[in-house]
Amino acid sequence: MIELDAEEARVLGCLMEKAVTTPDNYPLSVNALINACNQSTNRDPIVTYDETTVERALEGLREKGVSRRVRATGQRVVKHRHVVDEALQLSVPEYTLLGVLLLRGAQTPGELKQRSERWHTFRSLDDIEETLQRLTEREFVRQLERRPGQKEARWMTLIVSGAGAPSPSATATDAPVAPAAAPEVVPAVPPEPEPEVRRERSLEVRNPATGELLRSVAVTDEREVDQKVERARRAQPAWAARAYDERASRLRAFRDLLDAEAEECARITTREMGKPIVQSRNEIRAVLERIDWNIANVGAVIAPRVVTPAGGTAVEERVTHEPLGLVAHVSAWNYPYFVGLNSIVPALLAGNAVLYKPSEHATLTGLRLVDLMHRSGVPIDVIQAIVGGGLTGAALVGSEVDMVCFTGSYETGRRVARSVADRLVRLQLELGGKDGAYVCDDVDVESTAFAVAEGAFYNGGQSCSAIERVYANGAIFDGFVSALADVVGAYRTGDPEDDQTDIGPLARAEQLDVLEAQVADAVAKGARVVCGGRRIERPGSWFEPTVLVDVDPSMSVMRDETFGPVIGVQRVADDTEAVACLDDTEFGLGAAVFTRDRDRAERILGRLDVGNAYWNRSDRSSVRLPWAGRRHSGLGVSMSESGVRAFVREKAWHLGP
Ligand code: NAD
Repeated sequence: MIELDAEEARVLGCLMEKAVTTPDNYPLSVNALINACNQSTNRDPIVTYDETTVERALEGLREKGVSRRVRATGQRVVKHRHVVDEALQLSVPEYTLLGVLLLRGAQTPGELKQRSERWHTFRSLDDIEETLQRLTEREFVRQLERRPGQKEARWMTLIVSGAGAPSPSATATDAPVAPAAAPEVVPAVPPEPEPEVRRERSLEVRNPATGELLRSVAVTDEREVDQKVERARRAQPAWAARAYDERASRLRAFRDLLDAEAEECARITTREMGKPIVQSRNEIRAVLERIDWNIANVGAVIAPRVVTPAGGTAVEERVTHEPLGLVAHVSAWNYPYFVGLNSIVPALLAGNAVLYKPSEHATLTGLRLVDLMHRSGVPIDVIQAIVGGGLTGAALVGSEVDMVCFTGSYETGRRVARSVADRLVRLQLELGGKDGAYVCDDVDVESTAFAVAEGAFYNGGQSCSAIERVYANGAIFDGFVSALADVVGAYRTGDPEDDQTDIGPLARAEQLDVLEAQVADAVAKGARVVCGGRRIERPGSWFEPTVLVDVDPSMSVMRDETFGPVIGVQRVADDTEAVACLDDTEFGLGAAVFTRDRDRAERILGRLDVGNAYWNRSDRSSVRLPWAGRRHSGLGVSMSESGVRAFVREKAWHLGP
C-alpha cells in the first residue's frame, strides 16, 4: 500500500489524467499540472497549488517510489489505474466494480453487470456478488455507504484513506459532500485511451548485437487482453470436446512446420535476442523432441483410470481429468522455444486454450510460434498472442484466466503471485537460479574446465540453470583455474549470426550494469579478474566472458543471479565445505558435482535442497524429467508426467451399484 497524502494524491491524479507523465518528468508540463490541480473542483479547498506545493508533493511521490512503480510497468505513458491498483491492491474485477459503483451509481447486481461489461466480463451475477463481498470486507463499499446521498467519490480519497485507515490529511476530503459540490470526478475506470496514446503503444524490437530497430509491433492493450480472454473462453469448450487424436494431429502439424521452417525461426531468435545461431538451431531441434514426447504421452496421462482394488470395494472408483480452461503463459526470452512450448503444448493437448505473452525480448519468435500453430489448424482463438512488456503481462495475469504459468525473475514472480492470490487460480512459477558446481580433487582438469565453462557460458550465461558459482577443491584449484581461463579466453565473442561464434551480446542492455556492478563489488572486496571483466564498447550490449577468483560468499557475484558471462571460482577444502557452499543460496534450481566417483557425487547431491542434481554435467533439462525449482527458484512442476497434470483438474468418481 502506498500511503499518499491528499496533495500527493491530487498531483498524481493530475499527472496521470492530464499530463500523462510520471513524477520524474513533470517539468515537461509543470504549468499544465499546476493549472490542473487548481482548476479541479474537488481539490482540497485550503491548498493552493503553486510550484512549491507541487514540488513538495512530487518529492513525496518520488520518495514513495511511485515513479519507479510506473516505470517498472515498462510503459512511458501510463494510466493512473496501475498506480491505483498497486496502492489499493485491487484485482481487476474489484477495480472495475468499484469504478462502476463510484461513477455510475448502479444499484443492483444486474445493473452492475450491464455497466461493467465494457471493461470486464463478469461470468455471472454470483461473480459480481462475490467481488462486492470482497470490496465490502476490505471496507471500500462501506466507505461509500458512509456518505449518504453521494454516489460519486474520488479515487484519490480512497488512496489516501486506504482500506478504512484514514490518514489525518485525508479527513477534509473524506467528509460527506453533497453531489452538487463535486461535479468533477476523476474517473475510477480509465477513460478511453487518447488516439496518440494508442499510437505510442508499440514495442520496438531491436537487435542487441547492433542496436538496430528490427520491427515495431503493436502492443495488446488491456481492453484487447480482456477481449482475447473472452474469445478464448468461448472457443475452449469446442477444442476440449475434440478427440485427443484430433488435437494431437494439429500439434503434430505444428511440429512439422516448425521443423520445416527451423532455419528461418532460428534467425529470428538470434536477431532479436542475440543467441548464437548454432545454439538457436540446437534449441529448435531439441524442442521438436519435446513436442514428440508430449504428443505421445499426454493422452495416456490424462486418460480415465479405474483404481478400484481387485476384490475390494463394490463401489467403482475412477479418476478422470478435465482441462482447466484458460491458461495464461507469461514467458522469458532466454530459451523462447523451450520456455514457451513446455507449457503451451501440453496445455493445448489437454484441451485448454492458451493466452501466450512472449517476452518483450523475444516477441517476434513468439508471434512466429503462434502463427505456425494457426497455420497448423489450431483454432485462432484457442492460442492467442498477447504482445507487450510488464504492464501487458500484469493485465494478462490479472484477467479471468484459470491458470498462470510464469517464467521470469524471482521479483516479478512474487508480483505475479500476489496479483493472482485473491483469485486462487492455479499458479506455476519458474524463476531464477544461482546454480553451483563443485569440482572434486579427482577430476581431469582440462576436460572438466571445458564442461564447467560450457555450463556457465552457453547462451552467454543467460540460462536459469547456468553454473554461476564454482567451488574447486584446493588440491586441483590452480590447475583447474588455469585450464578454465584457457577455455574461456579462447571463446569467440562476436556476430551471433556467424556459425563460429561462442558468445553473443546480452539480450537486455540493462544487464550490463548488473554485471559491471557485480565485478566491481567483487574486486573491491578482494577478488582477482583472471580473464574479461569489462563491457565491450561497441553498438549493442556486449560483455567480456569473465572469470573471477579469490571470491567469497559476501560478494554479490556469488549470491545474486548474474545472468550473463561472468563466474567466480572459490577454493574449498573438502566435500563438507563444498556442500555448505553449494547450499548457501536462496535459490534451489540445480547443482552439479564433477568427479570420477559416481557414488561420491550422488552422496553430495542427495544432501542439497535443489530440484536438479547433475553429475559431470550441468544446465540440462529433459522432457521426461520434472523441472521443479525450489525456494526462490519457483513453484510447481513443468515437463514430465507431473508437468502434464499441471494442466488438468482431476475428478474422483464414486460409482456405487
Ligand atoms: P522478467 O521477470 O523481467 O520478465 C519475465 C516476463 O514477465 C516477461 O514476459 C515480462 O514482460 C513479464 N512481466 C514483467 N512484469 C510483469 C508483471 N508485473 N506481471 C506479469 N508479467 C510481468 O524476466 P526475464 O528477464 O524475461 O527472464 C529472466 C529471468 O527468468 C531470470 O531470472 C531467469 O533465471 C528466469 N528463468 C527461469 C527459468 C526456469 O525454468 N526456472 C527459465 C528461463 C528463465
